[in-house]
Amino acid sequence: MNKIPVNGSDDDYRIEKLLDITCFAELLEGYYQATGIPNGLVGPGGELITQAGWIDACTRFHRGHEETNRRCVESNCTLLEQAQTQKVCNSLCKNGLYDYATPINIDGKHVATLFMGQLLHQPPDLSYYEQQAERFNYDKAAYIEAIKQAPVIPKAQLEKQLNHMVQVTTVLAQSALSAIREHHLQEALSHSKKQRIEIKDLLDNSPTGISWCDEACNIEYINHTFTRILGYTLEDLPDVDSWYKAAYPDPEVRHPIEKIFKRWLYSQKKSNGAFMPPLTTESTVRCKDGTSKRISSQVSAVNQKILYNCIDITEKWRIEQRNLTRNRMMERVAQGEQLRSIMHQLITDIESDDPSIRCSILLLDAEGRHLLNCAAPSLPDFYNEAIHGVEIGEGVGSCGTAAFLGKRVIVEDIDTHPYWAPYRELAARADLRACWSEPIISSTGRVLGSFAIYHNTPNKPDDHDIQMISFAANLASIAIETLKNREELVRSEQAYRSLAENAPDAIARYDGVGDLIYTNPNFAALFASDISENDSYLEHYRSVIKKVIKTGTPQQVEICIHTGSSQRYLMFNIVSEENEGGGGALAIGRDITLHREMEHKLEKQARSDFLTQLINRRHFFELANREMLVASRYNNALSLIMFDLDHFKQVNDTYGHAIGDLVLQRIADVSLTTVRAADILARLGGEEFVVLMVQTSHDEALQSAERLRQAIASTNIALGSGEAISVTASFGVTTIHFDSGDSHTINHMISDADKAMYRAKQEGRNRVVYA
Ligand code: GH3
Ligand code: MG
Ligand code: MG
Repeated sequence: MNKIPVNGSDDDYRIEKLLDITCFAELLEGYYQATGIPNGLVGPGGELITQAGWIDACTRFHRGHEETNRRCVESNCTLLEQAQTQKVCNSLCKNGLYDYATPINIDGKHVATLFMGQLLHQPPDLSYYEQQAERFNYDKAAYIEAIKQAPVIPKAQLEKQLNHMVQVTTVLAQSALSAIREHHLQEALSHSKKQRIEIKDLLDNSPTGISWCDEACNIEYINHTFTRILGYTLEDLPDVDSWYKAAYPDPEVRHPIEKIFKRWLYSQKKSNGAFMPPLTTESTVRCKDGTSKRISSQVSAVNQKILYNCIDITEKWRIEQRNLTRNRMMERVAQGEQLRSIMHQLITDIESDDPSIRCSILLLDAEGRHLLNCAAPSLPDFYNEAIHGVEIGEGVGSCGTAAFLGKRVIVEDIDTHPYWAPYRELAARADLRACWSEPIISSTGRVLGSFAIYHNTPNKPDDHDIQMISFAANLASIAIETLKNREELVRSEQAYRSLAENAPDAIARYDGVGDLIYTNPNFAALFASDISENDSYLEHYRSVIKKVIKTGTPQQVEICIHTGSSQRYLMFNIVSEENEGGGGALAIGRDITLHREMEHKLEKQARSDFLTQLINRRHFFELANREMLVASRYNNALSLIMFDLDHFKQVNDTYGHAIGDLVLQRIADVSLTTVRAADILARLGGEEFVVLMVQTSHDEALQSAERLRQAIASTNIALGSGEAISVTASFGVTTIHFDSGDSHTINHMISDADKAMYRAKQEGRNRVVYA
């Protein structure tokens, strides 16, 4: 903003600005006419501004000659110079005439110089002028005539006149300067007014409510926004005290707020202008129209004023309050509080936002036909008792109708509304005049009950009230449903628990890191203390559990638990499941011991000879082929013994087939204890046996065969009758050496051994023959 100079600039002191030059010229001309004294006005730089009258002596003679003209100019210059410093000065020019000059000063500033002259003080000494005429070659008669015409004014008189002219000029210039200054002032004034207007507009249109008071707490200003928010004008609030009384009518609320302000004000005054942090407050303020608003305000000191800023945060605050109410309720629900207590607290929360309302929650009975009291802490008992159990229907008050229709019912005046006709007296006794009821509706659309807001005066809900009532009904519905779901959950959990506890299976649940969180009694019994931790199957089982938790893919794992001398087999199905803490796994194990044992038996049967329990022919070939490969890889010697009981037919014939079987079993047993652990003894069929001997040379094989022969021959087989019999056998032995380069098969070996055995038979039986 440019500063406007009220005292004027140098430009204001220019003589052309201060005087109307045309008028002033007329003034000087008039003066000349009256006195015959030529005069003129020269600017501070020596420039001629105006001039009146000349005398002929000068114009016709002095100016016309070079020498006398120089004298004129010289005199003027001297005079101008003197006029810068002296008040009145004069100069007698060398041509014999006087010039006068005086400065015109305004505010001590030299603005112009007033000249008078040429003139004479006394009648001229004509002889002097005659000489001059001769010297400069003037027309003597005409020159003398001109000199005679020069005005003759005594010095004192001339000075008076000059002073008078200076005064006139000064007055004129001074008044012109005043006019200029006034103009400047006007200009400055209108400018600052404009500034003030701009600031006022700014303040009024500020988005914050603004007010300030002086140090004595007299309120001096309230902007439009303040009035728009709270309704109060400067007339309503002459001072801070009246503000506190209007804004906080409840003394219990007002006093602490006021106290904080006074304490702040006291510290502010004591601080001596040092910076004080502003006082920030959030509070519910009563507006002029009786409604309430949530206001965030700031009090700060600005120069000598106390500035109050406020913004309306009602909407935001309401949302926050609702969030708080909901959070508090959800917390209570989570903590497993009773429905009644949760609803009671919900009502208390909602009523605390608006002390003029009373609320109730009624719930439908199981039949869905009657309303039952749930919570209405602010309504009188007689009223609650009277309402309890009322059958819903259209025209049954606000709540009965709302629950019946499943729609919000607004009764602005109980005294006149037909729905309330049957309950008018009851309502009057309870001091109820308006009742708005919102049905509480479940997530599936079923009416669960009603939430009602009562007023003790006729009342129409605004948008906020509608939001509030539907919010409250919604919260109630959430609480009711959550509690109901939880009850159902507890029931179904009990049912499942009972299933799990009594199931024949072993059931366990694991959390996200594979730690046990549940085991049923069967599982616990299985994994009882005699299971050592370092069992490898248990390690495997655990790794599978972790794998399922990680991948989510179901797995089966079989474990075998050794308890004492017996073994138990369990087949676990492991699936991933969600637990409270995230992932987890469920393991269900079934005892498959019987199944496994049967399987093992069948397997064994498939490999063994049913009569002697020795390895059977088919399994012998499996094992023998494997040993053949090993022996060929390592160039080991491999021997084979075949033996056949001698004259076995006779045994059968003599003692019967059963005794024959018994003999076969006994011979099998004797043979099994005689051969080495690494030897493979099998029954090839009938009474024919074979022994495969790994890493065995033919000498060793022969020795073994001999040992066997003796063992069999020396075995006495007791018969049931007390009699005992013995049998012999004939042996054929063969040995192969892979380093010989020959190719061999088991069939070759058997064939070789068989031939040797045949020879043993031929050679008298009960002997060993090497192939
Ligand atoms: P050799 O000294 O020449 O071998 O005379 P052998 O009587 O043993 O000869 P043979 O091979 O002719 O007879 C074998 C008999 O073994 C025939 C059969 O009745 C009997 N036998 C074969 N398998 C069984 C069996 O599983 N149980 C019984 N009890 N006898 C069997
Ligand atoms: Mg035989
Ligand atoms: Mg035989």
